[in-house]
Amino acid sequence: MSDHLVFAAPPPVLLPIAGRSEQYPVNRIFCVGRNYAEHAKEMGFEVDREAPFYFTKPASAYAPSGGTIAYPPGTQNCHYEMELVVALGGPAYKVSKDRAMDAVFGYACGLDMTRRDLQIAAREKGRPWDLGKAFENSAVIAPLTEADGFGPLAGKPIELKVNGETKQNASLDDLIWSVPELISHLSGFYHLKAGDLIFTGTPAGVGPVKTGDKLIGTIDGCEPVEITIGDAD
Ligand code: MN
Repeated sequence: MSDHLVFAAPPPVLLPIAGRSEQYPVNRIFCVGRNYAEHAKEMGFEVDREAPFYFTKPASAYAPSGGTIAYPPGTQNCHYEMELVVALGGPAYKVSKDRAMDAVFGYACGLDMTRRDLQIAAREKGRPWDLGKAFENSAVIAPLTEADGFGPLAGKPIELKVNGETKQNASLDDLIWSVPELISHLSGFYHLKAGDLIFTGTPAGVGPVKTGDKLIGTIDGCEPVEITIGDAD
């Protein structure tokens, strides 16, 4: 250990990349709220094209696909949200929509796990969403697929099954704010860079999980995200 550190630095958060031995180091995790009209409605909101809004998760919220995560503490209503995750591979600052996709490294299936009871309680009081959204194992992410291998986003289905039953089923065409629009907008507020991830929002059909549930999320063209919900720890 370095003489200059009072304790060991946390290890970097690394995502596997399909078909490659190199890994992808995660910097920040941005998440978009209410980006599918049918999901906005089920949460009690009308579609709003005024501007996208965001929350964040720490990189340490990452959980790899394929394992088991403990049912999180402090909630009676933990929900799944299946999402397309965009992984940046280069800088983007004040970029136009037309240049935004130059910054994309690849894509992944992700689950924005949410303590819905805590999120809604915070929302009603006008408080931040951190307890509802930014907790350990709340960002489950499958291995990345590079942009060339993923192909065009248009028309790709996004789906989530719980114990074999389809719960969410939509198309990436249903995104209110498209991927280039999101990158362009977010780049007006941050010096985006390689390692930054964007969870692009969830379609309708969100719901609770319980111990023993097996979740499998798919988007055509990339690796599925799979997770089992374990006992509370
Ligand atoms: Mn979400």
